[in-house]
Amino acid sequence: MHRRLPVYLVLDISESMIGEPITILQNGVAHLIKTLKKNPYALESMFVSIITFASKATVISPLTELTQFTCPPLSVRPGTSLGAALSLVKKQIEKEVVKNTPTSKGDFKPLVFILTDGEPTDNWKEPLAGLQGTKPVPNIIAVGCGEEVDFGVLVQISETAINISDITEDTIYKFFTWMSTSVGRHSEALTENKPEISLLKTKLPGGISLVKASDVPKKKAPPKVFLTATCSRTKKKYALIYRYQPVTEMYLAFRAYPLPEDFPMDEAFKAPSVEMSKLVGTPHCPFCGAELWYHCGVCDNLICLKLDELDKSVTCPICQNSSKLGGGGSGINLKGTIG
Ligand SMILES: [Zn+2]
Ligand SMILES: [Zn+2]
Repeated sequence: MHRRLPVYLVLDISESMIGEPITILQNGVAHLIKTLKKNPYALESMFVSIITFASKATVISPLTELTQFTCPPLSVRPGTSLGAALSLVKKQIEKEVVKNTPTSKGDFKPLVFILTDGEPTDNWKEPLAGLQGTKPVPNIIAVGCGEEVDFGVLVQISETAINISDITEDTIYKFFTWMSTSVGRHSEALTENKPEISLLKTKLPGGISLVKASDVPKKKAPPKVFLTATCSRTKKKYALIYRYQPVTEMYLAFRAYPLPEDFPMDEAFKAPSVEMSKLVGTPHCPFCGAELWYHCGVCDNLICLKLDELDKSVTCPICQNSSKLGGGGSGINLKGTIG
């Protein structure tokens, strides 16, 4: 029987990927697939699956022969359910990968690449133990993207984790180029019956490093706050991002990004709350350019507000209640995600 090399790409699509990062990731995966399709060994043996995770994990492409594979569009969701993703990978491996039998060899050991940029928001330890106990036991490589990765978690998933601290088009492109070379060599050794080559044998490009359990950075990068708001003119949803400033202990306005039309707002609000007076500045509404936002006390939503609407009566586009706004929102706790 023809032995296949199953490759599972497990991608974090949580809200911290909003904006450029999700596009960069999408392009990176497309580049990986394109490069691998030029490698005869990869073409001969490789099957690819993509699993994404946010508040839940989803198989967006089941295990598919490399030649037939195209990456479906990725879109951002709230949450980082790493545990759910690990459980789903286990389930898919059990379903899709052919096991060895006393009389025949099954598929090669699956490769699982987990790319994440934050901290898990669910229980991941038992699902990890489950995945590590799957037959055939997969080769798992954890890849941390961005400044807020908890490597204390990643080095438990794979003894050596990969660190891409700066998510740019350049670093992600280099990473997927590295991955195509590394996986290509691995598939060549397997199909030629040569000794297995460790994936980390291929030298990593500049800007990307390895993190071992012994050198996990003690100090964690400051978190961000994600809030969801609605444009009062277009009724479209957007995300507000604030960055923590350790010196002032306040969250400073960073950016606002449009959210996908089908973004589940309810899930976004199941998170710890933030004291409104801790937020400094306002990212402008990405739809109408409004300079401010206000908190509707009736429906508990954040709504964009233009400077010249201050002290005027405005109608909330969601609950239709009118209110007159003027300064001060301290004491109000907003439900957002700190991650
Ligand atoms: Zn607006
Ligand atoms: Zn309202």
